[in-house]
Amino acid sequence: TRFAVLKERAAGETRVSATPETVRKLIALGASVAVETGAGFAASIGDDDYAAAGADVGPAAQVIAGADVVFGVQAPDPALLAGAKPGAWVVAGLDPFGNRARVDAYAAAGLEALAMEFMPRITRAQSMDILSSQSNLAGYKAVMVAANLYGRAFPMMMTAAGTVTAAKCFVMGVGVAGLQAIATARRLGAQVSATDVRSATREQILSLGAKPIFVETVAGIEGEGAGGYATEMSEAYQQAQAELVSGHLAKQDIVITTALIPGRAAPRLITDAQIATMKPGSVIYDLAVSQGGNVEGSEADQVVVRHGVKIVGYANTPAHLPADASALFARNLFNFISAFWDKEQGRPVLDEEIGNAIRLTRGGKVVNERLLG
Ligand code: NAD
Repeated sequence: TRFAVLKERAAGETRVSATPETVRKLIALGASVAVETGAGFAASIGDDDYAAAGADVGPAAQVIAGADVVFGVQAPDPALLAGAKPGAWVVAGLDPFGNRARVDAYAAAGLEALAMEFMPRITRAQSMDILSSQSNLAGYKAVMVAANLYGRAFPMMMTAAGTVTAAKCFVMGVGVAGLQAIATARRLGAQVSATDVRSATREQILSLGAKPIFVETVAGIEGEGAGGYATEMSEAYQQAQAELVSGHLAKQDIVITTALIPGRAAPRLITDAQIATMKPGSVIYDLAVSQGGNVEGSEADQVVVRHGVKIVGYANTPAHLPADASALFARNLFNFISAFWDKEQGRPVLDEEIGNAIRLTRGGKVVNERLLG
């Protein structure tokens, strides 16, 4: 099996889908690996590092020629993939809902596109889950960026010149990113509170030493919901949540929003009217900015100031930690390949549960239920 690792071409993308570590491990399975020149530069990995790990380093066309599996962080341009073997796998974060035309192009090219963000949330797939590995880093980075933009300190400090009060930080949406945001803000010394629609998160918030803020009057989502994801909430719930949150928001210095609903626009959690009640100098980081945003007025890669409050969100937050984000992403892809490696055939062979979940195209057709649905 020949693996191809392309340089990412999307604007602002700094990550790479394989590292020298995972190249070595793929070769140890019996595969060969080709890496495009410069693929790792933005993640501080040189061509020499890949070559030393055993990869063939060269231009895109050479890397793609005869490839059985093409790796990417984001979806590679189908036009780049001419020259791959018929039926070759494209393994990446393919954003299937965001770019359906590209999925159709993979089908037309006879490629088998595997969307890593469709990995089912089952225990054995945890080590292959790109959403988790990247969200975790994003939650950390959001707090660091917010702290940097905040004109005050996070921890309480007792000094000879007087006391500096601790920052109040509120995390909205306590999935993987939110949990890491809570932990990071706590480590920096902030007073942290958090909310979610899934009642299972209450215990998690408490266990991290933060204060849970929950709607009590209308039922939220009991347990974990389908695959651990949230769904859109009733109007009654949304109203109760808005009322509860309004009073709380006015007292916050830092707000990190992370709420997402798969296949839909992000829920609106903070309105301009609510921002107007916040203290000037407060900072809101909208981690959902590229999915439509949790915060009214947030703009990707911009610091927007409304009513003296800074609203910020990177379109691609993990790309701001390129080395660690690449290391974890690359391990997710390697763990996926190695879990399905068939020694006799010398190639990966998917099982039904995971194959059906992540396979978008095969035999010239779009085959994924979530896209046909
Ligand atoms: P996500 O990125 O889809 O959403 C982030 C959070 O926003 C979620 O906690 C969600 O409940 C919350 N949210 C949605 N709408 C909201 C609203 N209107 N108000 C407030 N909060 C709202 O979620 P995620 O980070 O992918 O994690 C979801 C769950 O899946 C977690 O419990 C996580 O531990 C679990 N998970 C399991 C596995 C696995 O078993 N393999 C892998 C990853 C995550």
